[in-house]
Amino acid sequence: MAQRRVSPRPTTDGARMSAHARRPSAASAGRSRRLLVRARRLMPGGVNSPVRAFGAVGGTPRFIARGAGPHLWDVDGNRYLDLVCSWGALILGHGHPEVVEAACRAVRLGSTFGAPTQAEVELAAEIVAAVPSIESVRFVSSGTEAVMTAVRLARAFTGRATIAKFEGGYHGHADGLLVRAGSGAAALGTPDSAGIPPACAADTLVLPYNDLPRAREVLTARAEEIACVIVEPVAGNMGVVPPQPGFLEGLRALAERSGALLIFDEVITGFRVAYGGAQERYGVSADLTTLGKIVGGGFPLAAVGGRREVMDLLAPTGPVYQAGTLSGNPVACAAGLATLRLLKRENPYPALEASADRLARGLREAAARAGVPHTLNRVGSMLALFFADRWVTDCQSAEATDRARYAAFFRGMLARGVYLPPSQLEAAFLSTAHEDEHVGLVCEAAEAVLRAL
Ligand SMILES: *Cc1c(COP(=O)(O)O)cnc(C)c1O
Repeated sequence: MAQRRVSPRPTTDGARMSAHARRPSAASAGRSRRLLVRARRLMPGGVNSPVRAFGAVGGTPRFIARGAGPHLWDVDGNRYLDLVCSWGALILGHGHPEVVEAACRAVRLGSTFGAPTQAEVELAAEIVAAVPSIESVRFVSSGTEAVMTAVRLARAFTGRATIAKFEGGYHGHADGLLVRAGSGAAALGTPDSAGIPPACAADTLVLPYNDLPRAREVLTARAEEIACVIVEPVAGNMGVVPPQPGFLEGLRALAERSGALLIFDEVITGFRVAYGGAQERYGVSADLTTLGKIVGGGFPLAAVGGRREVMDLLAPTGPVYQAGTLSGNPVACAAGLATLRLLKRENPYPALEASADRLARGLREAAARAGVPHTLNRVGSMLALFFADRWVTDCQSAEATDRARYAAFFRGMLARGVYLPPSQLEAAFLSTAHEDEHVGLVCEAAEAVLRAL
């Protein structure tokens, strides 16, 4: 086993820590803490995406200096085993040589042109070959944009306004999708965020995940109004919640019957749960698919794709406007292409499945031995350890888990050099760079931390 830097200390928050600056551990987050102070003066909360602030788990967010393979190093020189992998984007781990080489080669030729490039064509071809329901694709710069475009397309195609989503499903931060609504009810949406006029959310119906009877009821009653049903085929933004058998198939049939389009938001699952995403894994195809994260190889790139007759509604072939200065950026396309080609060539999915299974088992055993009630959900190389004594099958059960215990677990693991998602409601990811040895270390750390909880 490689030498590991002794990592930062277990506890709590920056202000309190500075009182104990003599403890060896206290020094180890000093630079992060100082950067955070400075960052907060310059950027809201000191971060550019809220969950990075560690609000749900406490403690000082680590400012990251570099990554290599399965590891991250923070600005204080602490090394962590990374189980976030940039929220699932880095399925090959940090700095995979082929991806780095492709990106460097591209950037030397120019970073952006605002004109078509061959890399876009190659990447589009790779995606169309990977996902049978995708005949045509448009590149954008974020998953949020991909979803916005998918919804706009669905509305234009159907001539209807209402969209149906699922409680706990995250589809980026566009106004009409930042809605989860009350539990269980198909109530009209109320926005989750300030600054969204109620009218923007009024056309959003929210349904309980994995509840096909409820979806049937609502989609039947309001069949004429609904432009699309959008779903994360494996929910990855309330921890990890797999679709129950028949759920996706049922949605497929319901959408067809009502004339709505079925949108699979595969921003996480695309190229993650199988090369062809959830559609390959579950054998259910969508009308429109959104891709992000992995598809950009760690760069800002996402995509929406689907049936040609729908996609051709996009300008310049059709009346649906959508554009982007950096859309299909050549560096991002090169990195994405290198990633997809490697995934296709090496088919690491069985190995990822096996190492994620080992991790899941190790965590379950560690929790069981420590007497900590838990539920572990896993699909492929995405997983979530919930502190709950019941199954987690939907948003309500995910939210009913013991998040304070997760926060303590997170801090304990961080202190032992394991970087978990800083919220119980986010998924952990493995990459191809995570070897047995790393999985073993995570399990050992988990056992120690869980016993101490
Ligand atoms: C991350 C994510 C998005 C948003 O993607 P961004 O690139 O962060 O805008 C949308 N849908 C799902 C399922 C995601 O996980």
